[in-house]
Amino acid sequence: MAKFRCKNCNYQFARELDMPPKSCPNCGQIEVLRREQSASELLDDSE
Ligand SMILES: [Zn+2]
Repeated sequence: MAKFRCKNCNYQFARELDMPPKSCPNCGQIEVLRREQSASELLDDSE
């Protein structure tokens, strides 16, 4: 999974890397930024 953040509304969500989002699921903005995961975020995502 990779984390993405909408440039328009700042909504954050996760998607599989091989299925990147075409647009923000919150506002529909097309330009969505991918966020690299930091070590602390990886810890948060531990299953
Ligand atoms: Zn958005």
